[in-house]
Amino acid sequence: MAARWYEVVCGLCLAVSVNCQAGNNLDAVIQPRIVIVIDDIGNSLSQGRAALALPGPVTYAVLPYSAHGRLLAIAAHKLGKDVMLHAPMANDQNLKLGPGALTPDLSEIRFKKILNDDLDAVPYAVGLNNHMGSLLTRQRVPMKWVMEVAKSRNLFFLDSRTTRGSVAWSTARKAGVPALSRDIFLDHVQTEAFLSQQFIRAVKIARKHGSAIVIGHPYPLTTAFLEKAIPALDEAGVQLVSAPALIMQKQQAALLAKANKKPNEVARSPSAECDFSQSYGCEE
Ligand SMILES: [Zn+2]
Repeated sequence: MAARWYEVVCGLCLAVSVNCQAGNNLDAVIQPRIVIVIDDIGNSLSQGRAALALPGPVTYAVLPYSAHGRLLAIAAHKLGKDVMLHAPMANDQNLKLGPGALTPDLSEIRFKKILNDDLDAVPYAVGLNNHMGSLLTRQRVPMKWVMEVAKSRNLFFLDSRTTRGSVAWSTARKAGVPALSRDIFLDHVQTEAFLSQQFIRAVKIARKHGSAIVIGHPYPLTTAFLEKAIPALDEAGVQLVSAPALIMQKQQAALLAKANKKPNEVARSPSAECDFSQSYGCEE
């Protein structure tokens, strides 16, 4: 563990020094930011509590109607952490979705009722992202319905990008819903070496583009890793921000860029670091 951790810190430092040589651009003057979203909160109380104890503004995506989701959402809010709905959406592998699932066979009225009920089941949700969803997020009509509900409730959408063909992010932007897109899945391979590698990749993306969105899960290995990795971000000059905080910063940057007629990072297309050829591993 100790040796591996030393490699992570060195990796973060290397990511910083490489970027510092990149020259004087917009990203060099804005501190790079990382969003860490912990998905699948609610099934395990002990793992959920351990994830909530992570330092800093980590964001928590809660499964609707899960055994401990409501309790953990309230606990997260009490700790000053941001909560999202982790909306179950149809996938290509026929993996079980659990209650509150959004599927392509639903009528518009039924679809929107289920989504609104899901949101009501997760107290303090300020946004939502897809749980699985490799089938549904490729379809424009249901994604339009998702965004209409999100807009009516003043929520943002994070595209988990469980498929390369997802239209969720572009549909959100078209609908005027603030949107983010996952850059890195942290832990679909459960080894410390893989987590380290993914985290360093996230830091490099943040240094290059101004921000990076990381999605992980409340696995004991992930929680133990992040307990050490999050404090190291500070030393690496990278700021951990919540998903809604990044949305707000991007909106302000967009306004400033418009006023100054300069390009900004908001228009950056989603990157996808997950290996989609192994999409089962990303379908979480
Ligand atoms: Zn999930």
